[in-house]
Formats: sequence, C-alpha cells, structure tokens
Amino acid sequence: MNRAYNFNAGPAALPLAVLQEAQAELLDFRGTGMSVMELSHRSKDYDAVHNEAKELLRKLLNIPSNYQILFLQGGASLQFAMVPMNFLSQDKTANYILTGSWSEKARDEAERFGQVKIGGSSKGETYSYIPALDSLEISGDEAYVHITSNNTIYGTQWREFPDTKGVPLIADMSSDILSKPIDVSKFGLIYAGAQKNLGPSGVTVVIVRDDLLDQAEQDLPTMLKYSTHVKSNSLFNTPPTFGIYLLGRVLAWVDSLGGVKAIEEQNEAKAAVIYDAIDQSDGFYTDHAAKDSRSLMNVTFNLATKELEQKFLQEAAAQGFVGLAGHRSIGGCRASIYNAVPPAACEALRDFMLAFKNKN
Ligand SMILES: *Cc1c(COP(=O)(O)O)cnc(C)c1O
Repeated sequence: MNRAYNFNAGPAALPLAVLQEAQAELLDFRGTGMSVMELSHRSKDYDAVHNEAKELLRKLLNIPSNYQILFLQGGASLQFAMVPMNFLSQDKTANYILTGSWSEKARDEAERFGQVKIGGSSKGETYSYIPALDSLEISGDEAYVHITSNNTIYGTQWREFPDTKGVPLIADMSSDILSKPIDVSKFGLIYAGAQKNLGPSGVTVVIVRDDLLDQAEQDLPTMLKYSTHVKSNSLFNTPPTFGIYLLGRVLAWVDSLGGVKAIEEQNEAKAAVIYDAIDQSDGFYTDHAAKDSRSLMNVTFNLATKELEQKFLQEAAAQGFVGLAGHRSIGGCRASIYNAVPPAACEALRDFMLAFKNKN
C-alpha cells in the first residue's frame, strides 16, 4: 500500500488508524451483522455511536454543560445563513470581522436578514494578517460578532479572541477546531464543517449556548431552526450516520494521543518544520501571512515566478505530494497540515522544498 503525502485543504487527510478501524468493522459493526451505514438511525446501536461522539467532543473541548452540541448537514456554508436567520433581523445589527473569503461569504448571507457592520478587516492587504484586537470596532449593542478563526485560503489564524463586551461571539472554526485547546465559554456559537479536522465531509458540528437559543427567531422552516435539532438530539431527520461514526473515531484517536493539548504541541512542531524551511530559504520561498498571524493549519507561500511555482508543483506531485496548489482565488502554494497529517509528511515536504531550492 502506498499512502500519499496528503496536503489537501478539505476534504483532507484522515488518521490511518481511524481508516483501518473503520475498515475492520465495516461489514459487521460491533456484532450487529451489518455496517454502521445499514443501521437504523433510531436503533440502540446507532444511538450509542451518536452519543459517544457527542460526549467525546464535550470532553476534548471541555464544553460546559450550558452548551448544546449538534450534528447538522449543509456544511459551514449553510451555517453562514442559519446564524443570521436565527439571531438577526432587520432591526438588529451584526458585526462581521473580515479576515478572508469565508468571512465575506458569511457576511453576504447575513445581509439578507438584517443590518451588518464591519468591525475590522484586512482585505486592503489581501488578508495577510489578523487585525489587532484593540483595533476592532465593537460597540456592545450588536446582535453578535462573527469571526473566522482560521483562514483556510489565506493561511492566517486568530491567536487570541476579542472581548466582545458581552455580545455573543460566533466563530466559523471549520479549519482549526480541535487543533488546540479553546475556551468555549468565550463563544455564543461555534460551527465547523467536519472535513478538515474532524472527519469526512457531510457533517457540520455546531456548539451553541443555551441562552442564545432562548432568544432565537422561531418563525423559520423547521430544519433551519437550531431549536429543532436541540430538541431532537440532531435526529429530527436522518443524520449522516456514517460521517458521525467516523467523526467519533477521529475524536477517540485525538483522545488516545493525549487530547487537544498534545495535538497542539504536535501541530506547532509540524508547522515550524515548514515555516523554518520558508524562513531559511533567503527569499526563495515567501509566505503570504504576516508572521504574527501565521496559521498552524494552512501554510501559504509563493515562489519568485508563476513558472517556478508550476515547476515546484509538478515535481512535488511526481514525488507523491498531493494538494499543494494554492486556492484558485490567490494561487501560489499551500500546505494544509491538519491534525491527521503526520509529522513525517511535513518533514518530507521540508526535505523536498530544500532540495528544490538547491536545484533551482
Ligand atoms: C472549508 C471552509 C468552509 C466551507 O465549508 P463547506 O462545508 O464546504 O460549506 C467555510 N469556512 C471555512 C473557514 C472553511 O475552511
């Protein structure tokens, strides 16, 4: 078997141990005589899978008991709309901090449902940094403040989170959830598509504080109300059962490694391997992100010319490196090094980068 060095941005690498576990129990899941995919979502066997995943997430992220955990569908993109549908109206203002394309998409959806103000933005410098916390304009009377904690396309990441003067802080954590410890109690709502750090595509995790639910808009289609999914334990309709099962296995894998603190240390070491290669290249490689805003999940960099970047990507592909082209909106190169990307893959990429530089 030849596993690729997978640097895909999402869907992305999954832990090999999880894939092997899923393979081993694919045909006969825990003595049921069928795969997880074939279980009824109303059965005791599936219930155990569902609740185990929830409990593990609560444990790993230390989620307080006044927060609900939901497994939804429609990706982070549906959350761009569900958040304002539930918490914004024409007589209220939401505050969006713009740090990349995903924040803009979230802002665009909010504008359909109420007033939107921009409390900070790094768009003027092609989203190469996270605005300083003391530069943000948060007045304290907004319906909520929305941020994107890690900017998958531009390769920047929030290190600290803003004090929102009591206004609920809502974060799209699609590309860095579970990569480090976070203080969930600072947030009103957190959402994340699973396909970067949590599992396969098709599941979206939402973590929401009880008091927000009490204030939410109720005159909405049933499936678009958070309260529907809270009341039914995310079983109002058929959930993506196999995806939730795999999510649970990924969570158990993180737990077995020592939890998010241990994962964070590993992520810092992995990112340092590649950023050091950039920093020590005498300008052969240049990074897109300002140093104090560098993402530990998505390392974005350029070479001197488009031709040289093409050559880099072609030779990398020939040596088994997958997914290194930058997002189509900014070009260049990007190595996505989520939790499941092994340290050895980052070291192999560093060695390739050094060898390519010496030859060119
Ligand atoms: C990938 C990504 C999205 C889009 O997720 P979908 O599940 O495809 O809707 C949104 N936000 C961020 C930060 C992402 O990385």
